[in-house]
Amino acid sequence: MAHLKREAVEGLRGSTAIGHTRYSTVGVGDVQDVQPLVINYPYGIGVVHNGNLVNYQSVKDRLQTEMRRRCFTSSDSETILNWFADKLQGNSFVDIQKAVRSIFESLLGSYSVAGILGEAGLFAFRDPYGIRPLVLGSKKIDGKLAYMVASETIPLSFLGYKVERDVKPGELIFIDREARLHSLVLDGSREHRPCMFEWVYFAGAESELEGTPVYGTRLALGRNLAKLIRAKMDRGEIEADIVAPVPDTSRTAATALAEELRLPCREILIKNRYIKRTFILGSQEKREKAVDLKLNPVVSELKGKNIILVDDSIVRGTTSRKIVDLVKRAGAKKVYFVSTCPPIRFPCFYGIDFPNPDELIAAGRTEKEIASILGADGVVYQDIPGLLASLSETGGGRVKKPCMACLDGKYPTDVSESSRFAALRSSERLAVGEPGKGSR
Ligand code: SF4
Repeated sequence: MAHLKREAVEGLRGSTAIGHTRYSTVGVGDVQDVQPLVINYPYGIGVVHNGNLVNYQSVKDRLQTEMRRRCFTSSDSETILNWFADKLQGNSFVDIQKAVRSIFESLLGSYSVAGILGEAGLFAFRDPYGIRPLVLGSKKIDGKLAYMVASETIPLSFLGYKVERDVKPGELIFIDREARLHSLVLDGSREHRPCMFEWVYFAGAESELEGTPVYGTRLALGRNLAKLIRAKMDRGEIEADIVAPVPDTSRTAATALAEELRLPCREILIKNRYIKRTFILGSQEKREKAVDLKLNPVVSELKGKNIILVDDSIVRGTTSRKIVDLVKRAGAKKVYFVSTCPPIRFPCFYGIDFPNPDELIAAGRTEKEIASILGADGVVYQDIPGLLASLSETGGGRVKKPCMACLDGKYPTDVSESSRFAALRSSERLAVGEPGKGSR
């Protein structure tokens, strides 16, 4: 859809639509990777997909050798589409169930998928661990109920849909041509492992996932992190005059952290709102350039101050190091860099783009070593109990066992093919100008 003119989009007529802006965690971000991906055999089918397949390459191999299908992109979404198409023997709800069951049995990783099956209706399903979110909403249009599924509650509210519920892990939703909703949990045998990073960073602050508001969780992350900082202040390890957020995600947590420490919260970095999130830019060079362009220091507020600088996470450290440098050059006395997310020490294979451990600043390093690399006077991370407490306090314990594999290395699925996944991603990054391993 990205290359369609606005008038062309406005001219589209119909009762069913899908769309997705996927940030590249596979593929090189070419136009061929743009979603929805479509196929015409055995029916007209289009899908959009959020997540990543860990066993993408063996799935692709099987599609090509056993099923005699060809994939034309390097996107794992295309393998989901082809697998679904291959297993589909008709276009009824029962036929869709069989095809999705087969996906659940063979495709490993995270996938929230929505699709259109020509002349039949709209379907959506969520992987059996429910790693990536998917929500269902409804609204009355011309006296009839219409449905919408999305990866967050924000687009539902924006379009006037009432949030009905989260799609369950392993559940299939089907809305037929008469707008009747069918749903069935096809695989309810696994533990629900929603990605903790959605609440820490990824989801919009105004979203609510699994009955657990993102904004409230970020406040709680700030309060819980403040306890760890308070202990360091009491021991004389941190002296602070102000708390400041790194815009934008961490602003919520920084506010609560400052309240808890009874320190003023000040904006010392102003963001150029026309620059994309640096974390999701495809190459190191682009990320570094973006940091230069994206933040300006407020010298009057930071000069001569000891500052607790709050960010949602420290992934590669590229951005954090530049920010510390920027704030110090602008006249700050001391900078303590604090992260509302615990140390990210393991790669993610489920749709957040850090598949190589060598890129992660916290992998194998102490807080002191990390502070030295960042040029900070100290680094403080949230701990895992603080993260779990934040989710639990906000959502009344609805999120029982989130995926925290990037923190503790305990992956919900088999990740024995992860080295193939990481190698593929590295080669794709090289293709788009990423210097590669060890480039931090
Ligand atoms: S590994 Fe980390 S970022 Fe990836 S899905 Fe799990 S919690 Fe989320």
